[in-house]
Amino acid sequence: MGDFRVGFGYDSHRLEAGLKLRLGGVDIASDRGCVAHSDGDAVIHALCDALLGAAALGDIGTHFPDNDMAFKGIDSTVLLRRTVELLHQKGWQVHNADVTIVLERPKLVDYKPLMQKCLAELLQIPVGAMSVKAKSNEGMGFTGHGEGVAVMAAVTVVK
Ligand code: MG
Repeated sequence: MGDFRVGFGYDSHRLEAGLKLRLGGVDIASDRGCVAHSDGDAVIHALCDALLGAAALGDIGTHFPDNDMAFKGIDSTVLLRRTVELLHQKGWQVHNADVTIVLERPKLVDYKPLMQKCLAELLQIPVGAMSVKAKSNEGMGFTGHGEGVAVMAAVTVVK
């Protein structure tokens, strides 16, 4: 193995009643969804930032500005595909990824395997190299009060 890097990403979105909730490329049955310029997929946004961070290529806002109408309502899987392509162009391959989703409700247990499969395909890694974890925030803070969702992501890349 040649060069090896770690990247870390974080994202959060406000939740509001009547909006769709999409996380990790998967539609989640929920009475509330993310307020966002894109589809609000905080899992994918955190992963994009982790990947860009690993390759020292800036952040998601640099590449996909949220004031650019081209990205209005965009399917975030497109952003992740483009991010992975960018890393490939620089010679980086994703090795593994690990995400933690902090959301009070709904419970994501049934959705985790779907997200894992979808994200592994997008990152072009084996399903066993893609970890998706979910937890509540024990009723504390903006996640615990159900005001928003927060996601942390770590990745390793190699070249
Ligand atoms: Mg975001």
